[in-house]
Amino acid sequence: MDRRDFLRTLVTRTGIGAGVALSGAAGYLGYHQPRREFYVDPFAIGGEDLPERLEIPEKAVVVGGGLAGMAAAMELARRNFEVTLLEASDDPGGKLTGWEVDALGERFPVEHGFHGYFDQYYNLNELFEAAGVGDVFTPAPGYPVKFRERPLEVFGQAPKLFPLNILSVVQQSDSLDMLPILMNFKGMLPVMDMFRYEYGKTFSRYDNIDFMTFCREQGVYDPFLATVLHPFSDATMNRMEVLSAAEALRYFHFYFFGSPEALGYRITKQDCMTALVTPVMRMLEDMGVNVVTGARVSRLVAEGDRVRGVVTGIAGGQEVMRVPYSSVREGEWYAATSPEGVPVLVTLRTGEYVAFDATCTHMGCPVHPVDGGGFFCPCHAGVFDSEGNVVEGPPETPLAKLDVTLSGDQLVLRRSVAGEGEKMLECDYCVLASNVRGTREIIGRSALGRPEFEQRIAALGEADPYIVWRLWLDAPVSSADYPFYTVSGYTYTDSVSIFSRFQEPFISWSARTGGSVVELHAYAIAPEDIRPEAEIREVMLEEMHRMFPETRTASVLYDVFMQQDNFTRWAPGDHGNRPETETPFRNLMLAGDWVKVDAPVFLMEAAVFTGRLAVNAISRQESLRSTPLPIVSMEGMFA
Ligand SMILES: Cc1cc2nc3c(=O)[nH]c(=O)nc-3n(C[C@H](O)[C@H](O)[C@H](O)COP(=O)(O)OP(=O)(O)OC[C@H]3O[C@@H](n4cnc5c(N)ncnc54)[C@H](O)[C@@H]3O)c2cc1C
Repeated sequence: MDRRDFLRTLVTRTGIGAGVALSGAAGYLGYHQPRREFYVDPFAIGGEDLPERLEIPEKAVVVGGGLAGMAAAMELARRNFEVTLLEASDDPGGKLTGWEVDALGERFPVEHGFHGYFDQYYNLNELFEAAGVGDVFTPAPGYPVKFRERPLEVFGQAPKLFPLNILSVVQQSDSLDMLPILMNFKGMLPVMDMFRYEYGKTFSRYDNIDFMTFCREQGVYDPFLATVLHPFSDATMNRMEVLSAAEALRYFHFYFFGSPEALGYRITKQDCMTALVTPVMRMLEDMGVNVVTGARVSRLVAEGDRVRGVVTGIAGGQEVMRVPYSSVREGEWYAATSPEGVPVLVTLRTGEYVAFDATCTHMGCPVHPVDGGGFFCPCHAGVFDSEGNVVEGPPETPLAKLDVTLSGDQLVLRRSVAGEGEKMLECDYCVLASNVRGTREIIGRSALGRPEFEQRIAALGEADPYIVWRLWLDAPVSSADYPFYTVSGYTYTDSVSIFSRFQEPFISWSARTGGSVVELHAYAIAPEDIRPEAEIREVMLEEMHRMFPETRTASVLYDVFMQQDNFTRWAPGDHGNRPETETPFRNLMLAGDWVKVDAPVFLMEAAVFTGRLAVNAISRQESLRSTPLPIVSMEGMFA
C-alpha cells in the first residue's frame, strides 16, 4: 500500500468511525432525552374494561380546599362518589386563595402570593383544562435573576434537548464563560450528576445532608452555584442550608434536567382566585360536590381499621388550657399556646377575665393584639376589634371567645358553651388534604391509637417564615423589563412581581394613575433575620430601591404585608419518615405537597398529583379504573 492509499484508507476509516461514534452518541442522546411519561402507579389495576363510576354512590369527605383537595374532590365526583369538601377558611384555594381589599377608593383583588405555572405541571394543567379555565395565562418572557452585586442574568427559553439545554444556560449567562467552565470541569461533574437523578439512589444517598453541604462537598463550580443553583433552589422556599440535598436534586430534575419542557412557565392575566380557583370550584359544584367553607375539621373518628367520620367544630365546655392567673394583668394581653398548639390570648378588663382562641378564622394563623385594642392577622392582613369581631380583611367569622374560670391559682380556659359545638359527618372514605399544620392538629386530636403513624404526622414541619408584600406606588417601575424577577443576594427579597405589568385590574389602574403595583416575596427567613415588622419593611423597601432606583422617590400609597409560616419543610432526613398516600386506616388517604411520593413532582404539581393518587388508591379498593398520571422522566438521563 503506498502512502496515498494508506492516507485514503485512514481518512475513510476514521471518518466512518467518527460518523458511527457521532451517530451512536446522537442516537443515545435522542433515546435518552427527557420526555413526558406515565407514572407506574402502584394503585392502578386492570385497564379500560374496568368501570369508571360506582353504581351506587358512596360518601367521601375531602378535608382541605387547596389544590390537593380540589383535585381529589374532582376525581371522586367523576367516579360517582357523593363528595363533601370541607375547607377551614372562608375562601377556598389554600395557597392559591385570594380576597379583595378596599384601597385608594377602589376594590382590588389580592392573592396569597404570585405563582408561576410551569409547562410540566401536567396534572395541574389537566385539572385546569377540566374546569375550562380558558385563556387566563400569558407565557412569561424568560426567567430573569436580579443579583445584588452583579448585573441581571436572563435564563429561560432554553432549548429542550440535552446537552443544548445546559449549554444554553451557560451561554445565556454573562458571568458563566465556557472556557473557565471547561477548565474547571471537575466542578461541573456534580452538576452532571444531576442528570443521574434516580429516586431510590438519590434519596438513600443524599437525603441526610443539606444542599449547601452537598454542593460544597462535591466541589460544585462556585460561579455555577452562585448564578444558577442558589437562586433557583431558593424558590423551594426552604433555605439551601436546611434543604435536603435529595429534595433539591429532585427539584432540579423536575424543573430542568429531567423536564422535556425546559424553563417555560406562564403567569395569570387575572388574580388566581378569579382565573383558576373560582372555575375549579364552579366545576366541582356542577359535578355535585358539596363545598363547605368555614368548616374547620377538628378530628377524625376511627373504629378498627376504618375512619367512621370527620368532626367539625369543637365541643363547648372543652378545656383548651390553663394559665397561671398571676401572669394575666389588667390591660395587657397574655399570650400562650396550648399543648395541642392552639394560640390563646387572655387579659383582665375592668376586673373581668377575657380570653380568645387567637386562631384567625380565615386561614388559621395566630393573630396578635394591636395598640388601641383589637387584633391583627399577619398572614392575610385580617383586622378584628377588641371583641374579636371582623373589621377588615378576608376573615368573615369573629374570633372564638373562650370561657374563663378560676381554679386555685390557675385560669381555666374552655371552649364557649355557647359556641358552635361538634358535628360529625359520616363517610365511607376520607382524603385528608389539609396543609401540614392542619393535618398535625387533626391527627393530634383524633386519639387514633396508631403511634407510628401519629408520630410520622407529628414530625412533619414547616419551613422558615416567608413574607408576601404587595405595594401600590405612585410612580412606575420603569426600569423593570420583565413581569417577574428571581432575586439573589439580598437579606430578605427573593422575588419581585410587577403586577401592573401583567395583571388586571392593576394594568388599568397603572395606566390611569401612572402608579405601579409590585409584590415582594421573602422566602424562608433565617432565624437571625427575624425582626420586628417595621424593621423588615424598612430593609425590604431599601432592597427594592436598590433593585429599581426610580422607586426611591416613589411613595407607597397602600400596601398589604403578610408574614406566615405555613410552607412545607423539606429538611434533611425528613423524607424517609414522611407519611404516604395510604395510612393504617383502609379508607383514609393523604394528599398535599408534603406527602411522600417517589414521582418527580413538586409544589403545585405535587399537590394535584397526590390528590389524584389518593383517589387512585380508593379506586383500587372499589375496583374502579384509575386515572393515568403524567410525569416528567422518572429518572435522569444518565441514571
Ligand atoms: C408565596 C407562595 C408562592 C408560591 N409560588 C409557587 C409557584 O410559583 N409555583 C408552584 O408550583 N408552587 C408555588 N407555591 C406553592 C404552592 O402554592 C403549594 O405547593 C400548593 O398550593 C399546595 O397545595 P396543597 O393543596 O397541598 O396545600 P394548601 O394550598 O395549603 O391547602 C391546604 C388547605 O387545607 C385547609 N385546612 C387546613 N386545616 C384544615 C382543617 N382542620 N379543616 C379543614 N381544612 C383545613 C387550609 O385552609 C388550606 O386551604 C407557592 C406558595 C407560596 C406560599
